[in-house]
Amino acid sequence: MTDLTDIEKEHIELEFNNILSTCKGCQKSENKIIIRKAFDLANEAHSKMRRRSGEPYIYHPIEVAKIASNEIGLGTKSIICALLHDVVEDTDYTLEDIESLFGKKIASIIDGLTKISDVFDQESLQAENFKKIILTLSEDVRVILIKLADRLHNMRTLDSMPDNKQVKIASETLSLYAPLAHRLGLYNIKSELEDLSLKYKHPLIYNEIKNKITESTEKREIYINKFSSPVIEKLSQKKIKYSITGRSKSIYSIWKKMNTKNIEFSEIYDLFAIRIVFSPKVKSPEKTQCWNIYSLITDIYQPNPDRLRDWVSTPKSNGYEALHTTVMGPGQWVEVQIRTDRMNEIAERGYAAHYKYKGDKTVDSGELDIWLKKIKELLSSNNSSALDFLDEFKLNLYSKEIYVFTPKGLLLRLPKGATVLDYAYEIHSEIGNNAIGAKIKQKLVSLDYKLQSGDQIEILTSKRQVSDPKSLDFVITAKAKNALKSLLKKIRLENVEKGKEILQEKVKELNLNPSTITFNKLLKHYSVRSKDELYCKIGRGIIDISNLKKIISKKAQNKWVRYWQLQYNRSSTRKKIKGDIDSEKSIVKTQQIELTENFDYTNYEIAQCCNPIPGDKISGYLENNKDVIIHKSGCDIISELATTQGNNIISVNWTTHKMLSFLARIELNGIDKIGILNKITNIISKELDVNMRSATFDSRGGIFKGTIDLYIHNKEDLDKLIIDLKKIKGINSVIRIEELNDTV
Ligand code: MN
Repeated sequence: MTDLTDIEKEHIELEFNNILSTCKGCQKSENKIIIRKAFDLANEAHSKMRRRSGEPYIYHPIEVAKIASNEIGLGTKSIICALLHDVVEDTDYTLEDIESLFGKKIASIIDGLTKISDVFDQESLQAENFKKIILTLSEDVRVILIKLADRLHNMRTLDSMPDNKQVKIASETLSLYAPLAHRLGLYNIKSELEDLSLKYKHPLIYNEIKNKITESTEKREIYINKFSSPVIEKLSQKKIKYSITGRSKSIYSIWKKMNTKNIEFSEIYDLFAIRIVFSPKVKSPEKTQCWNIYSLITDIYQPNPDRLRDWVSTPKSNGYEALHTTVMGPGQWVEVQIRTDRMNEIAERGYAAHYKYKGDKTVDSGELDIWLKKIKELLSSNNSSALDFLDEFKLNLYSKEIYVFTPKGLLLRLPKGATVLDYAYEIHSEIGNNAIGAKIKQKLVSLDYKLQSGDQIEILTSKRQVSDPKSLDFVITAKAKNALKSLLKKIRLENVEKGKEILQEKVKELNLNPSTITFNKLLKHYSVRSKDELYCKIGRGIIDISNLKKIISKKAQNKWVRYWQLQYNRSSTRKKIKGDIDSEKSIVKTQQIELTENFDYTNYEIAQCCNPIPGDKISGYLENNKDVIIHKSGCDIISELATTQGNNIISVNWTTHKMLSFLARIELNGIDKIGILNKITNIISKELDVNMRSATFDSRGGIFKGTIDLYIHNKEDLDKLIIDLKKIKGINSVIRIEELNDTV
């Protein structure tokens, strides 16, 4: 805790004046006075604090205020809040102090910001807490905008954090903050957050791509000039005021594309897009002028009709407006984006840009309000678990949209991939519950029909409620999912009641004793897991109990062999569960586990991504509250899950495992000498606890490569085998391969 030096004080003053002079929305002297007041308070409150990097703490709120002002375009109130955002949390000032000095509104935004950071600062972000954040967000969107500015500055200065924190913060940024920025239309901030996350999560990949972009700059610029010059000529002839630039794709989106399409950097054809931003003339509508420029460009270059995107007539729900087309430039396809100054402002700064046009009032941007209303609806449906909510929320953040029409011509927006049933629930839950199909363009279509933009839909209903659980597989909106789940639950409960009555009557009729033993016999006979499932199936008429007497009087056959035991350690309560597995099935897979005891987790599975075997350090992930997926502790996927769903990470240990076989794969290579394959297979067959399942060998130019799948009991046996194989003369390397996506 060192006092500020004179140089630092001077720098702070300079940076602050910078905010005042660049902030467009706060040039009135009364605004400047109150911003000064906030700055003085923050400066004084943080004066004894330094950041981890050693810099005076106040640099941080100043930078956050600058981002809020220059990069998001926020006004006076937001700048004040950005300057004060850490004061209540980190210093002796209270919320009451803030309220008495700056008024109710500012105090409530600061309150929101403090609550959010409470939530985010916990060990891992819990879905339940995330729900709280969104509730705050729906009160005043500025809370989330300032929080994004805060996170952006923290990401820009992440270097001074310890490594393990860097990765955690980067993961969280990627899974929550970047999608939020995207949803609010803050494209620049979203891209920067993604790029910075990648930089800390996968530094090597990040640098490699970055270098490749730099290397190809000159070539790209030459191409862009060649492409642009005829366009520039035409635009100038029409006396249009414009700017034309070549925009390179972000590092993160290049990485994503390389991954999803499994291609090399050099194979990405749309590394850049051409962007034309123009000042529209007052006399004709912006839309017409955009299309005029489109027509001018397509006179020069042939457009690809499949890749025309008109977000001028129907803006995206995050407010984005522009006309995109892909044309055949000299030798390759090139994307061209056409926007007016106003559209560009919205594209870069998102909804906040609306402030600029509407003054520094409350945010009133129609589409955002609709979105927030949807979020509120989602929150108010009480049967959505916090975790489902998080998934659905993320889904809604990134989904692309289609536009469809009601029979009366009303426009509705749905995520891409939405079906007739989604649409029905969008209209009303009763319509969804009773829908049996629809009419589109005079044709009858089923509930799982995927809607296309422009479809006009008439829903057909019947009084009988739809109760097929399979419907859940083809609805994608949160609204439809929630409504369907509660309908299915209701129907299930009805069936359970009905089944219970039927069974009780039958038991009475036969004069049987409804003991636990009786029930266990029934559960085993009908292969159901619980009493409720039994009742439900009886209620639905799937299980016929007319020969009940015979089943119950049958002698118990115990063909079950106790096979494995995993220790679950969830939160503070330790539970031991015993699993029995059908001996016939045990050789290959570890699924199909029937639990004898009444326990929530009815199944466990070995994750395909890292394929742990006994002896490896493992962690469990509780999926959908019922299945436990076992990963290796260091696996990327489980670390990702740990950042968003820490509650569902269960610590698990191997205990009894000698009797169960696990599939493992090794890869080996060496010099192709006579008899070497024989030696390899000999060693494997001599190992007591290892069985070979399959093997392939490939020989080229005197070098061979082999892949062998084995059944082994644990890591120890596998390690021993690897050591033995390495002893063979001519063998170069033997390694274990974790991912087993296909069999050899
Ligand atoms: Mn902060």
